[in-house]
Amino acid sequence: MRWFLSLTACFSAFSAFAVEPSIAEAPFGKTPAGEAVTAYTLTNAAGTKVKILTYGGIVAEFHAADRNGKFADIVLGFDDLAGYTAGHPYFGCITGRVANRIGNAKFKLEGKEYTVTGGNPHALHGGKEGFDKKVWKGESSMTAAGPSVKLTYTSKDGEEGFPGALATTVVYTLGKDNDLKIGYMATTDKTTIVNLTNHAYFNLGGHDSGDILGHMLQLSADKYTPGDKSMLPTGKIQPVKGTPFDFTTATPIGARIKDTGGDPVGYDLNYVNGTKQHDAAKLVAIVADPKSGRTLEVITDQPGIQFYTGNFLGKEIGKGKAAYQQYQAFCLEAQFFPDSPNQPTFPSIVLKPGETYRQTTTYRMSVAK
Ligand code: BGC
Repeated sequence: MRWFLSLTACFSAFSAFAVEPSIAEAPFGKTPAGEAVTAYTLTNAAGTKVKILTYGGIVAEFHAADRNGKFADIVLGFDDLAGYTAGHPYFGCITGRVANRIGNAKFKLEGKEYTVTGGNPHALHGGKEGFDKKVWKGESSMTAAGPSVKLTYTSKDGEEGFPGALATTVVYTLGKDNDLKIGYMATTDKTTIVNLTNHAYFNLGGHDSGDILGHMLQLSADKYTPGDKSMLPTGKIQPVKGTPFDFTTATPIGARIKDTGGDPVGYDLNYVNGTKQHDAAKLVAIVADPKSGRTLEVITDQPGIQFYTGNFLGKEIGKGKAAYQQYQAFCLEAQFFPDSPNQPTFPSIVLKPGETYRQTTTYRMSVAK
């Protein structure tokens, strides 16, 4: 496919600020239950910087340069842990065990029915207390690919209703090309289901810079999985052609947002990347902010990607007291399809003992000329 931008980034603008890649580790408060949380700040030679929390594996900050070399923090979030533990719409976190929806919070596996916590009526992002609310164990290292932090968490058998103890590892690595690579791995001791993703809310103008309706989006997907009124997939896979969901050519996010329907109105749907299980990661999305020149590429091995335009935002007071408004950010959550356990025609998310679940997604920043 032909992409709309020549992604020849102005790395010369960055080199003026060349620094040694580094990792800084600092306490980030305690949860109401008294668990200590650590923040790891990874910086690459270009000065691009991400802050990762052991609480929820949250990407709390992502500082990237614009076309003039000026840095801005391009993800929504809070200044302190209390902002996150008070409850939030999954800012920057790892969602799991099963990201997205499970219809009526129920699924069958090997003849047995399971009920996930927090059904409303569907379970969302791993139940009442998903991976986004767990304190992970963190370990940082300077790797050949760049500064890195490894997070581990073992979810107990039966946690939030899911069978099997799930040993989970998520590795964040910040590469020299301003690429944040997220590698996920999980193993189980009983047959279970797993579908992990990251839920970063991006605004390429800066988290406090207003809405993202003028950002240009291009997706490699020519199909999507339509949902019913409650946002549960119908099981169909439909072409995007002729719908406001067609981003096969670069289009401003806001151009047809009013035509998308939904309550509240906005994009909140799963696109079919055309990737088969075990395929190598490929470029599936490019978002460009014409004002700042900042450009985000999403490279993933996942078959689906949920595109969400922050339709429910409007209550959160974020970093630097920014009042986040509806459409102030977009999420591109690479994952398997929603409600996979109840949709026999969708790729399976079943994981058996002896198998290893793996997923890789990279968010790469560059600057358009
Ligand atoms: C879902 C939205 C939801 C948002 C925040 C997205 O992945 O598709 O419906 O509002 O997460 O919870």
